Amino acid sequence: DALGPTVTVGEILVEIMATARGEGFLEPLDLRGPFPSGAPAIFIDQCARLGGSAGIVAAVGDDDFGRVNLRRLERDGADTSAVLVSPDWPTGSAFVRYRDDGSRDFVFNIAKSAASLVSLTEEAKALFARAGHLHVMGTAFAIPGLWALLEHALPVVRARGGSVSLDPNLRKELLAHGQTRERLELVIGQADLVLPSGDELFLAAGVEGEEAAVAALFERGVREVVLKRGERGSTWFGDGGGRVDCPAFVVAEVDPTGAGDCFGGAYVACRRLGMPPESALLYANAAGARNVTVLGPMEGAGTRGELDAFIAATPRRA
Ligand code: ATP
Ligand code: MG
Repeated sequence: DALGPTVTVGEILVEIMATARGEGFLEPLDLRGPFPSGAPAIFIDQCARLGGSAGIVAAVGDDDFGRVNLRRLERDGADTSAVLVSPDWPTGSAFVRYRDDGSRDFVFNIAKSAASLVSLTEEAKALFARAGHLHVMGTAFAIPGLWALLEHALPVVRARGGSVSLDPNLRKELLAHGQTRERLELVIGQADLVLPSGDELFLAAGVEGEEAAVAALFERGVREVVLKRGERGSTWFGDGGGRVDCPAFVVAEVDPTGAGDCFGGAYVACRRLGMPPESALLYANAAGARNVTVLGPMEGAGTRGELDAFIAATPRRA
């Protein structure tokens, strides 16, 4: 952590949720929100809340939806100096309704919101120039402005001895799109740590089979792979051949959104605070599991004390 903050790039949104399950938004509904959201924002908030030095390059509107996010990130200790506040464009938003089967319907306002204005401002350059770690979200590959930022940030962070992590959170369909595949390859080639969820491991590695896919990532210079397995926990693989399986905590899932981002934020924060992989993995599992017990994408992000209490009080699967 001494080298400088963990920095990520991408969308900040509010999420507004239908309180009753069902399909779509075609009649008046009871809604709950705005909740601070956006995958990179959830990641960086959990990182900061756990005591990691953290900052984000993003854009919001000069409105209450933007302020809800800025206040939360600042309260939890994240550096928001590189969050552009647009006087003209509204903060991005996502309306979400869970269906009975757990799938979700959305109404998005992201592509034409302030979230699309993320760019290489002087503040962003300054934050990258003092960053000790860059966390890349796979969703950023398909967004032109975001890729330009990453092309700037990767060599800057690398040149000062910083490390890089990648959450390849992308779907097969996205990979076929434009330059997504070659951008993904480029970041894998720079990454120390990759944090895929389920099949994203095979997409990222371009190889089927868990062991083979992990080996393929190590061949490209990755040093740790942490595989997220939802309610089945997670597994750490080290390039020296080590493996640690972490069984999931047994919790009542209220809202699964944000689990993977809290997991990643906690893992990176703990590693950068000097913990060995086993301990970081335990905190990451706790952060993901705790977050699904609370309504709202980052409402369950925990401090070190909250996660210690959660770990002590929550049983784990055999
Ligand atoms: P998201 O669903 O937010 O995109 P993801 O698919 O990247 O996340 P998940 O595997 O769903 O990531 O969740 C990350 C971690 O959080 C899991 O590896 C696990 O440790 C924990 N977790 C998630 N859901 C549950 C659950 N229902 N019970 C216990 N732990 C959970
Ligand atoms: Mg998931």
